[in-house]
Amino acid sequence: MKALCWEGVGELAVRDVPEPRIRAEGDIVVKVRASSVCGSDLHLINGYVPAMQEGDVLGHEFTGEVVETGPGVRKLSVGDRVVVGSIVACGGCWYCRTEQYSLCDNSNPQPVFAEKLWGHSPAGIIGYSHATGGFTGSHAEYVRVPFGDVGAFKVPEGVSDDAVVFASDAMPTGWMAADFCNLTGGEVVAVWGAGGVGQMAARAAQLLGAERVIVIDRLPERLATAADRLGVETVNYAETDVLEALREMTAGRGPDACIEAVGMEAHDVGPAYAYDRAKQSVRSQTDRPTSVRQAIIAARKGGTVSIVGVYAGLVDKFPLGAAMNKALVLRMGQMHAQRYIPMLLDRLAAGEIDPGYLATHPMPLNEGVRGYEVFEKKQDGCLRSVLHP
Ligand code: NAD
Ligand code: ZN
Repeated sequence: MKALCWEGVGELAVRDVPEPRIRAEGDIVVKVRASSVCGSDLHLINGYVPAMQEGDVLGHEFTGEVVETGPGVRKLSVGDRVVVGSIVACGGCWYCRTEQYSLCDNSNPQPVFAEKLWGHSPAGIIGYSHATGGFTGSHAEYVRVPFGDVGAFKVPEGVSDDAVVFASDAMPTGWMAADFCNLTGGEVVAVWGAGGVGQMAARAAQLLGAERVIVIDRLPERLATAADRLGVETVNYAETDVLEALREMTAGRGPDACIEAVGMEAHDVGPAYAYDRAKQSVRSQTDRPTSVRQAIIAARKGGTVSIVGVYAGLVDKFPLGAAMNKALVLRMGQMHAQRYIPMLLDRLAAGEIDPGYLATHPMPLNEGVRGYEVFEKKQDGCLRSVLHP
């Protein structure tokens, strides 16, 4: 079958790869109908998560049809239309039972790499490097989903592939970002990053009670889309001093909650990380202000900073002093997909969240290389390219 593969830092290609097979009793195989690019993939493509191997199939945000089930699968049958959370979780360990699915103890079959980097191994992630399981991704005709009963959810009638695909990742990530802010109503929430994740975080903050949401980016089309679709306020950081603008917009107090939905490509003055091809290693560029630092400095005293942008290594000059002395609450993590997807599918079917507008560039799988180019360069108003095998 055809699949879009990582071939080295900055290099992708559509290749022929073996079709997946059922390997464990809880596995399902899904025939992919739509598979979206995500900002997380840029970290892999650009070498900021140094645990990729040549030929790895990318893709973790997808929807499709069940074509095979392992003998232990109870809830799903061949023919079911499903959306699959990108986080792999066993459903039975202590972390899963307490709904902290992205910390699952049993879903990373090769935890050594993560343990070396981070002390412990979090959950596996489909199509997301050998630090999180080495699972083959969804930019392919078929994909194997481990623990199918836990990770795959039936799609409600009448919801299109190009909308429901975002219930896989961008929607639950955005929701978790806002959920971490413990909103009780009336808050001002600032969101760094107007990509798919930032836009879904902004919508979630509104639904969870924020009175005002301010979205920060440098891309005028993305800011305009967020303003039009969601009715948020916007700040363009290429034109305006963000800290000053936020201070002014909140009468000096600062946002109650700051959501960081940017991650390692943060480019106030260039990426916060650099890949050294000769040494095959990643180093952080310590003098560069990241959106994380800005969020911490902007937040009001006693406020919350919720980080869902992905970081894999060290962030130097992390302003711990500001966080400590302002008594901030810091929350962060990979999203607990399975905790949020059922509720989000209900909201999607009810029209409360309409993520379909993120699918600006639908295209066939064999044009996937171009799909990433348009997405990475944010050309032509691209929010997300969605690949159709
Ligand atoms: P994206 O590339 O589409 O969007 C990122 C946006 O951030 C861009 O619009 C870019 O212009 C903007 N940006 C860059 N520097 C900025 C700055 N200094 N201030 C404000 N905005 C800035 O990516 P996306 O798909 O929306 O994903 C965003 C982040 O969320 C990525 O790091 C991704 O890995 C992460 N993510 C996390 C999870 C999770 O489980 N925690 C899941 C999915 C994605
Ligand atoms: Zn588990």
